Amino acid sequence: MTMDFDPDDRELRIQRLARDLAVTQLAPLAAERDRTAAFPERELRALAQHGLLGVNVPATYGGAEAGMVAFSLAMQEIARADASVAVTMAVTNLVADVICRFGSEQQRRTYVPQITSGSAVAASFAVSESQAGSDLAAMTTTAVRTATGWRIDGAKQWITSGDRAGVIVLGAKTNPQAGKKGISAFIVAGGTPGMTAGKPEEKMGQRGSSTVPLVFDRCEVPADALLGKEGEGLPLVYAALEGGRIGIASLALGIGRAALDAATRYAQERVQFGAAIATFQAIQFLLADVATEHDAGHLLTMRAARGKDLGRMVTREAAMAKLFASEAAGRATDAAIQIMGASGYMRKNPVERLARDARVTRIYEGTSEVLRLVIARSLLEQQGKTIPE
Ligand SMILES: Cc1cc2nc3c(=O)[nH]c(=O)nc-3n(C[C@H](O)[C@H](O)[C@H](O)COP(=O)(O)OP(=O)(O)OC[C@H]3O[C@@H](n4cnc5c(N)ncnc54)[C@H](O)[C@@H]3O)c2cc1C
Repeated sequence: MTMDFDPDDRELRIQRLARDLAVTQLAPLAAERDRTAAFPERELRALAQHGLLGVNVPATYGGAEAGMVAFSLAMQEIARADASVAVTMAVTNLVADVICRFGSEQQRRTYVPQITSGSAVAASFAVSESQAGSDLAAMTTTAVRTATGWRIDGAKQWITSGDRAGVIVLGAKTNPQAGKKGISAFIVAGGTPGMTAGKPEEKMGQRGSSTVPLVFDRCEVPADALLGKEGEGLPLVYAALEGGRIGIASLALGIGRAALDAATRYAQERVQFGAAIATFQAIQFLLADVATEHDAGHLLTMRAARGKDLGRMVTREAAMAKLFASEAAGRATDAAIQIMGASGYMRKNPVERLARDARVTRIYEGTSEVLRLVIARSLLEQQGKTIPE
């Protein structure tokens, strides 16, 4: 089956818009946000104004209705300037997408415009718990039916924007005896009594994004807070992660591209032994490898994004894109530091931040190891063999 990876005019327009916004409004204060761990609220409002908090969301709900290729291109531009803003944007888009896909018309009309307009500030996707990271079926947060709706009890961990989000999609067990078939998804409005955010984590990178524990203590939500069908929360989470992984692959590509740009510039300016270090083949080879891996990651990501826009299942493609792009971003930022020598190792140099920002892309929304399992499972299933989950 043929597939055209080239962006069309509309996708290129979104990319340019994101690039302009990134260069003029995000890049100048990215280092400061990293230093102070300041949440990018003003920046998110700017993204909302330009349709970037619902790139793949239908216009009826305030989205740009531009698809996943446009989303990926926009994410890459935002991440080139500031990965903290990019991860907040990625999760917010994911939640808008998942409500559009699995929500009732009433849920779509109530929550999605709040997200796309920026009035919700951000959106959160709360599935991980202290004892349930890769193994989401081990979650212990429960949702029990009451006379008027559901009562949620438990604690989520490492939730991006959990203390800021106006809309939170949550996974909880509605039938703890049923294992992975006993998980359901819910939409909870920010500020609902019984839900409390803990102190933001002190992180190695992406410090301008907020990562918090969320505690649910007899948190009462109405009956229509259930998102999708009861007991079908885990397939919903996996479906959301398919798009989410395209977002994180794009984020990693943006970081890698920023590292390549900085290293290329520096190599042409830095003189040693009477010549620019860019004239040394050892430096050229580093740059060539980073550029090649960047393009390979980009093509993998475009394949997944275009496939999704065409309505195909892209579980394997999205996993490959995130696995490759996130590992390549680690190698790209490391090579950039090597090319810049001592100067690259200093706090005031942007590549030092890029290296810290890149690291977590191998961990969230599926670790590299879990992604390899996803890819291998899909390969083996295709060969007519099955492996136990
Ligand atoms: C900055 C940040 C933001 C995050 N944001 C969110 C968010 O918004 N919402 C949310 O729900 N979660 C979020 N997370 C949590 C993230 O999704 C989890 O950290 C991730 O799923 C991995 O879980 P874990 O950290 O518990 O690692 P574990 O699952 O404990 O894994 C530890 C190690 O064991 C490996 N491992 C685990 N199982 C296997 C296996 N079967 N085979 C081989 N190796 C295995 C892993 O790859 C890893 O190397 C965030 C995390 C971070 C760091």
